[in-house]
Amino acid sequence: MTAWEAVIGLEIHVQLDTRSKIFSAASTAFGAEPNTQACAVDLGLPGVLPVLNLEAVRMAIMFGLAIDATIAQRSVFARKNYFYPDLPKGYQISQYELPIVERGRLEITLENEVQKVIGITRAHLEEDAGKSLHEEFEDFTAVDLNRAGTPLIEVVSEPDMRSAKEAILYMKKIHSIVRYLGISDGNMQEGSFRCDANVSMRPAGEDAYGTRTEIKNLNSFRFVERAIDFEIERQIGVLEDGGEVVQETRLYDAGTGETRSMRSKEEANDYRYFPDPDLLPVVIAQDMVDAIRAQLPELPWEKASRLSTEYGLKGHDAETLAMSRELAEYFERTAKHTDADAKLAVNWITGELSAALNQDHLEITESPVSSTMLAGLLNRIEDGTISGKIAKDVFRSMWTGEGDADSIIESRGLRQITDDSELETLVDQVLQDNPKQVEQFRSGKDKVFGFFVGQVMKQSGGKANPKQVNDLLRKKLG
Ligand code: ADP
Ligand code: MG
Repeated sequence: MTAWEAVIGLEIHVQLDTRSKIFSAASTAFGAEPNTQACAVDLGLPGVLPVLNLEAVRMAIMFGLAIDATIAQRSVFARKNYFYPDLPKGYQISQYELPIVERGRLEITLENEVQKVIGITRAHLEEDAGKSLHEEFEDFTAVDLNRAGTPLIEVVSEPDMRSAKEAILYMKKIHSIVRYLGISDGNMQEGSFRCDANVSMRPAGEDAYGTRTEIKNLNSFRFVERAIDFEIERQIGVLEDGGEVVQETRLYDAGTGETRSMRSKEEANDYRYFPDPDLLPVVIAQDMVDAIRAQLPELPWEKASRLSTEYGLKGHDAETLAMSRELAEYFERTAKHTDADAKLAVNWITGELSAALNQDHLEITESPVSSTMLAGLLNRIEDGTISGKIAKDVFRSMWTGEGDADSIIESRGLRQITDDSELETLVDQVLQDNPKQVEQFRSGKDKVFGFFVGQVMKQSGGKANPKQVNDLLRKKLG
C-alpha cells in the first residue's frame, strides 16, 4: 500500500480596510443598500479613469514587511479579462508579472512545538468584483456592485503545507497579522478574508508534485479544514482505484461537507493579462518603505515573546493570547490590576471568559466583564476571600451585570469561611452525623476522607476554606 502525502498551497484574499475604493472615491463601508456605493469608475462607464488609492499601497507594503518579503520598487497593474455579470468592465484590475510584494515567509508552530517555515510566493494588489445574489428574486440573479473596486491583497503561498491542520495554522497566522497591522477587519462572514485551497497528493518520499485541484472561496477556518480533509480523502480514493486526479476548480458544499467539480482545466478561463494602460506603474521609494517599517506595530510573535518574558508565561499560553491583539491587550490590562499570578489570569481568560464569550457570540472587546472587573475577582481568589469554585459563580453574576466581584461577594455572603472555630463546628457536626464512615476510615479505608471534605464543603455552601478543612479533618480523625 502506498503512503500518501498531501501538498497544499493557499491563495488568501484579504479586503483592505481603506475608507474608499482602490481606484475610486466611493465608500467601502459594508452593508449599504445595493448599488448605492458604486460610482462611474466601479461601474466601468466609459470616459472615466482609475486613480490609485495610496492608502491601499501603504497597507500592502505593511503586510509585505510583516512577512519579511521584498517590496517591489516597481510593480504593474494588469487587466485580467473575463466575462461575468458582477464585473461590468469585463476585466478585473490586478497585478500579474510584477506584484508589489514578493518572496515572504511565515513561521507556524506545529503541535509538537516544531517551527515550520511556509514560503509566501507573492502578495498582489487587486480590486474585488461585485456580488451576484441568487436568492433575492425567483428566476433572476441580482447584481450588487457595492463591493466592486474594494481593495484586496491576494496572498499566494508556496505549496508548503502538508495537512489541513498546517493550512489552518498558516491561515490563522495571516489573519492575525492583518488584524494586528490594522489593514483589514478580517471579518470572514462578510467576506473580508477568504481563501482558495489548492490540494494534491503524492506518494510519501517523492519530490514531484501531483495534479492539484483548487477549492474556491472558503470563508471560514472550519470550512477550509473540512474541505481540505475531504479533498485529501477523495484524491486518495481516486489514486488507489488506479485513476488520475483531474486538474479542476471545485466548490465546497458546507451542507454535505463535500467538494464538487465546478470547471475543469479545459473550461478554464484564458485571462489574456496585459498591463493596464490607464494606470502608471507603481514606483515605491525606499524612503517610503523605511517610514512604514518604522511605524509597524508590535506583531503577534513579538507580542508573544514579550508576554512570555515580561509575565513569565509558557510559550503556548503567550501564543494563544497573542493570536488576537485585543485578547492580549485584555490580558495585559488584567495583569496590571491584580497581584495574582499571571498564570491565573491566563487560565481565566482562556477558560471561563473565552467560553462565556463563545456562548454569547461576543468579541473580547464586547465582554460584559471588563479587565478591571476580572482583576478584582482574581484579587479575591488570591487573598483567600473566595475559593476558585465560588469565583466561578461570582464570575457568572458579573457576566449578567450584577456588579463587581466585591459587591457580589458582600451582598451574597460568599466570603470564604476561614474562622477556625466556625470550621471546627462544621467538621464536628459532619463527623457526628456519619459514624459509619468514621468507623470505615479508622479501619483503614483512606478513600472516605474525600467524602468528609465534600460533606463539610457542602454544609458550608462551598464557602469553607478547603485547606483548613483538610487540616482540621486530619487532626480530628488522626
Ligand atoms: P494559478 O496561477 O493557476 O492560480 P499558481 O501556480 O499561481 O497557479 O498556484 C496557485 C496556488 O497553488 C499556490 O498557492 C501554489 O502554492 C499552489 N500549488 C501549485 N501547485 C500545487 C500542487 N501541485 N499541489 C498543491 N498546491 C499547489
Ligand atoms: Mg489561482
